[in-house]
Order: sequence, then structure tokens, then C-alpha cells
Amino acid sequence: VHHDLPNELGDLQPQFLSDNRYFVCPTARRLGLTSADLTEWGASGQTTYDYEFGRNPIPKVMAGGSPSTMREWKQLQMGLIGSDVAMVRCHTHEKASLELSFGGRIYESAGLDWEPNFKDVVDPQDLTFGRCLATFLVQKTIVLPKRAPTTTPDLIDLSEHYNLTLDEVWPGQGVSCPFAALPSGISEFAGTSFDVRGAVQLGAMRPGLVHYPVRVTGIKLGILARTIQLLVGTAHSAAPQALVAEFVFHLANGQQQPLQLHYGTDVSECVVALPNSSPPLEQAKLAWSGATKQGKGVKLYQCCWTNPLPSQIVNSVDFVNREGNAGPLLLAISVGRGP
Ligand SMILES: [Zn+2]
Repeated sequence: VHHDLPNELGDLQPQFLSDNRYFVCPTARRLGLTSADLTEWGASGQTTYDYEFGRNPIPKVMAGGSPSTMREWKQLQMGLIGSDVAMVRCHTHEKASLELSFGGRIYESAGLDWEPNFKDVVDPQDLTFGRCLATFLVQKTIVLPKRAPTTTPDLIDLSEHYNLTLDEVWPGQGVSCPFAALPSGISEFAGTSFDVRGAVQLGAMRPGLVHYPVRVTGIKLGILARTIQLLVGTAHSAAPQALVAEFVFHLANGQQQPLQLHYGTDVSECVVALPNSSPPLEQAKLAWSGATKQGKGVKLYQCCWTNPLPSQIVNSVDFVNREGNAGPLLLAISVGRGP
């Protein structure tokens, strides 16, 4: 109705939640406690829960506080880990905090903080407001070519997710622009058409001026698919067979289907010393091979996912960084609907 989040949980009453008991955790009622009593911040009275997407300044009790709002901080956290950021929390339970995420998932945290749950994908320090707000200051703005109006829906539109342009200089790679010579717009690679206008880069663990997210969630597909072709590479090398990234496909029946990318088998480094210096990969086609102005080789790979349930619409896909600092890149997604 409002196209916005509520400022506090009480705003949901009475239009969206008629009954007061939805605001009171049964454990909190039994113990006569609220989450605000235990965290020493937040509204008490209306609810026993802790709501973290309000427009109130970050309170002093959290590492000294900040004039930035809780919502600004939480939205920056979502840029790093997606919709698993805790939105409504209950601290009145003895053994764990209970979290309801922005995306609707319920999970437990061992202590007062939920951030350590994600320590395998992002350094918990990067989720603190100090780090999030500092990073925000160097967030870059990119301008990308517009999607051609004739593009068919099977060439998935990544416009909302690109964070790298094709003519961008890569830090640490000298003055090279690895994708400068890559054909852009609707282009065919290894027999498949793709809409190529930019790239989605992951990898938050490698310190750099620009901070890339460890996951990009909810890439909208909304299409029947027998196979899905993915145009991929990595910014850096990794150990042989390391699990560097994963695609998680969300089917209309609620099932999730993963596609894992292992280094050296499914994906490899885009920039190599010489144009012909990298061996072929077992599970991926070489989609494109070029050279930089400095004479280095550039490669892109094409991975294929086969839908085990082709009668189910594929609603969306998540692109997730796994081990290490390879910096996985996704350039395009193309859906195969034929047999
Ligand atoms: Zn509770």
C-alpha cells in the first residue's frame, strides 16, 4: 500500500495486523520482558520485538551510535549479503536470538548479534555500520548502455545488477581494460546469444577501493527453462577445484537448485599472461578469447545448468561468492527453452 517499509512495527496496526498479540512473543510475555529491556534501545510498549529498519539514528548503545539511520545501515548490509539481514528480532529467549529476515526467513543466532552467522561469506567487521558507511562513501556510479528494445525475454536483463562496465580499468591489472574488445549488445558466443552490456562482480574479502558484494540475490528470470547458459569468469585466480561461486535457481514450486562453479573446471581467471596460455576447462565451453592492448590474453567461459524440473518456471537466481577471493564475474544469462 505504501511502497515502503514501516518506520515501526506499530504502524502495521490496525490496517495490516488487527490483533495486538502478534506484537508480543509468548516467551517475552511469560518472562515479563521485552527485547528493548535486554538491548537497551528501541521502542517498548507496543511490541516485545526489536525492529531494525526504522528511521531512528543508530543508538549510542551500539558502538557509540551514528546520526545515520538504522535503515540506511541495514540497506548497506543488504548490499553485501542480500535479503538475509535480520529485520524483526526477539532477544527474550534464553539460548538464542530469533531473527526474521528481510526476505522472510527465520533463523537463530547464538549471541546478541546475527552477523557471525554469515562469517563464511563476509567478514563480520564489514557488516558493522562503521565499515558499511565508510564503504558507502566510495561507492561508484556506473553508466551502462541501454538494453536494445528488441531484446527477447530469454536474454535475461541484468541492468539492475551490473556493477562493472566493459570498458573499465581493473585495479591491480596495470592499465588493462580486459573486456574493452568484447563484442557488446546482443552477441553470440559458442552458439548462444547473450545480452552483453556490463558485468556483475562478487567478492567482498579482497581489500580494494570498491567493495563488491558477496552475493547478488533475486536476479529475476520468471521464465520456463530447459537449460540456462551463463557467461562467467573470475577476476583473480584460485586453488584448483576450489568452490569459488554458486548459482541458486529458485523454481516456482519453492525448490532451490544449485549450480556450483569450481575453479579450473567450470570457471577460470579472465586475464591470463598470454592469449593461448590457459588449458580448456572440463565443464565449461570457452565462450570468448581476446587480448588486451598490453598483449595479455582474456577469456570468458560458458557454463550450462539443466533444469531437472523443466515444467516449473524458474522465478529467479542468486549469484553467491563462496571460498576465497577469486572475484567471480557474471556477464550474461541466456535461457534455452527448446528440447
Ligand atoms: Zn520470542
